[in-house]
Amino acid sequence: MAEKIHHIGIAVNDIQKSLNRWGQYLTFKKGDIEEIKTRGVKAVTLEFDEGPLIELLEALGSETPIRKFIDKHGEGIHHICFKTDDLDLKVRELKKKGVRFVQENPVSGAGGSRIIFMHPDNLNGVLIELKEEKE
Ligand code: ZN
Repeated sequence: MAEKIHHIGIAVNDIQKSLNRWGQYLTFKKGDIEEIKTRGVKAVTLEFDEGPLIELLEALGSETPIRKFIDKHGEGIHHICFKTDDLDLKVRELKKKGVRFVQENPVSGAGGSRIIFMHPDNLNGVLIELKEEKE
């Protein structure tokens, strides 16, 4: 079965200001702003009628991946997230194919999910998140 795109992550300087701006131009259902301290981010999801969610990401502190990304590239698309039913199996399969991951093993993500990031070198410079949602 093909994967489903779960969300597109966008790095922003100020999540509240960005949320207001998106809300001025587009119509969506807003999730709760969630702080994921282990990953150094504040995140909120925007849900549209169809298609993937948009995830806005603000850095919590200067030595965090989002801060470093913005320092290097400016605000913008940070990653694409694919949903998978069995993350451990998927990671094992991909490791066999030589895929490099940012983390050694899956870590906790938003809403009690488990996630892992594939290094951008694997797919055309795009950071790919794989996500297994909480049962
Ligand atoms: Zn994400």
